[in-house]
Amino acid sequence: WRDAPVEDRISHALVHGIDRFIDADTEEARQAADRPLDVIEGPLMAGMNTVGDLFGAGKMFLPQVVKSARVMKKAVAVLLPYLEAEDDGSMVAKGRILMATVKGDVHDIGKNIVGVVLQCNGYEVVDLGVMVPAQKILDVARDEKVDIVGLSGLITPSLDEMVYVAEEMERQGLNLPLLIGGATTSKVHTALKIDPKRVDPVIHVMDASRAVGVVGKLLSETMSASYVLDVAAELEEVRVRRANKKPGGRRVELSVARDNALTIDFERHPPVAPLHPGVHTLDVTVAQLRPFIDWTPFFHVWDLRGRYPAILEHADMGDQAKSLLEDAEEMLDRIESEGWLQAKARVGIFPANRVGDDIEIYTDDTRQRVAAIVPTLRQQNAKSGTQPNLALADFLAPKGTEDWIGAFCVTAGIGVAEKAAEFESRQDDYQSIMLKAVADRLAEANAEFHHQVLRTHLWGFSPDEALANEALINEDYVGIRPAPGYPACPDHTMKAVLFELLNATETTGVVLTESMAMMPAASVSGWYFAHPESRYFGVGKIDKQQVVDYAQRVGVEVSVVERWLSPSLSYDS
Ligand code: SAH
Repeated sequence: WRDAPVEDRISHALVHGIDRFIDADTEEARQAADRPLDVIEGPLMAGMNTVGDLFGAGKMFLPQVVKSARVMKKAVAVLLPYLEAEDDGSMVAKGRILMATVKGDVHDIGKNIVGVVLQCNGYEVVDLGVMVPAQKILDVARDEKVDIVGLSGLITPSLDEMVYVAEEMERQGLNLPLLIGGATTSKVHTALKIDPKRVDPVIHVMDASRAVGVVGKLLSETMSASYVLDVAAELEEVRVRRANKKPGGRRVELSVARDNALTIDFERHPPVAPLHPGVHTLDVTVAQLRPFIDWTPFFHVWDLRGRYPAILEHADMGDQAKSLLEDAEEMLDRIESEGWLQAKARVGIFPANRVGDDIEIYTDDTRQRVAAIVPTLRQQNAKSGTQPNLALADFLAPKGTEDWIGAFCVTAGIGVAEKAAEFESRQDDYQSIMLKAVADRLAEANAEFHHQVLRTHLWGFSPDEALANEALINEDYVGIRPAPGYPACPDHTMKAVLFELLNATETTGVVLTESMAMMPAASVSGWYFAHPESRYFGVGKIDKQQVVDYAQRVGVEVSVVERWLSPSLSYDS
């Protein structure tokens, strides 16, 4: 393809995502063209249209699109000085979209992917980054005269912030369509909590591949009105269905659930005293972490849905998956050899006991002084047979029997932000997204690695364990490491307690935002339970009685608990 005319070479490079020759080819095309803009409107747009069509038709995968967008951006960067010199910079975008990860949240892989996909379909994206306060979103939307606002967030507290942004848009008269996206967002939450706050359309966008279609329809002169009506009708239908729905599943009263707690026979299986109690800061290298990576979620980030390693042999996705993994491994090599990222771990083991549904953690072995109390939440769904209603506290022995709890905070994100910004300044969104995705994998690998160190050495309750990667991913080990914000302990605020116990910020550099997101994003924190009967579970929906009880135990207002636990409530608050 290198011998073809320059226009064809540019289109080929775009469609195949090859950035190696694009600078020189673009320059050659510019010299041959009457105006620099002709290069954009000619071969570049032709190539991008092909990419957009193939992706829209499901014939091209997300990683390819992001690579194609990189080629486009690099070509435009070559042309930009000439466009500006001729004051011809007015490439008419199809529309301007503001994108932001809301206040308190630091996750931006999904947002960045959507931004890239929109850009490569001819839209201009004003990306405000992460942790963006509502007022800034409103101000920039107005100043930059955007057509649409897109909000992103990953953790549950971000749902609330999105409601607030919607309210403020309405109050301040910013009458633009609002797009909602991110892992914990849903059509139901959008319909029940966000949409009612505004007159203008609110649209839940499931994933990056939908964004272009949604934006296209919203900005189309002919289709917009009917599309907006359709979306509104769909959300109304969700609300009606919810209103008529019988409360899902049978729930039992808190007292009944408590009577059905798990009772572990601690005589038969006495708690194992830790070999190295107290807190430890542990150094670890990227090389040590690589064998502990669970690759399946990595492919999900890139919208390739399947399990590793089978996905590498998949009929349609296999080639894409292989090439993506190659790129990731190559990046890991460079992360290692050039020292891009640092990983850190802080692990602690403390004397602790169960007191009702609370966990009491003591400062030392005398168990006289309480270092922290961690209230836990109990399942309230009706159980069949001998199934218990679980709470994490059940996995610890009551007072009178010596027991311990562990806590950890690990990161692989130190250095990510700087390196990602470097890629972005070179128009390389592909590598920037790749780096963040790989860093997330290393963070989870760090959690897996140190959990094993804990079992075999620090605590030592499984001294002879020799589980390989696959068995670790299957959670075949003894004990669990539940993370606040996840199903067994959905209250994100418990991270504050955990961080203080560990002195985690000072020792690892990981900080908590006001929404209890960990920054850098490539971090994991949680508790360790050692007992062989402890297992992962989901608390599910809890009733008002438990919320009131829990609020009292935590020492906060009921409304505060209702805000943090809104997705876990069995009632509308
Ligand atoms: N192997 C996967 C693990 C992802 S789950 C990966 O590499 O992506 C992320 C973290 O959530 C785990 O490390 C664990 O600490 C925690 N976790 C898993 N299931 C949980 C549950 N049911 N309740 C609470 N925390 C859980």
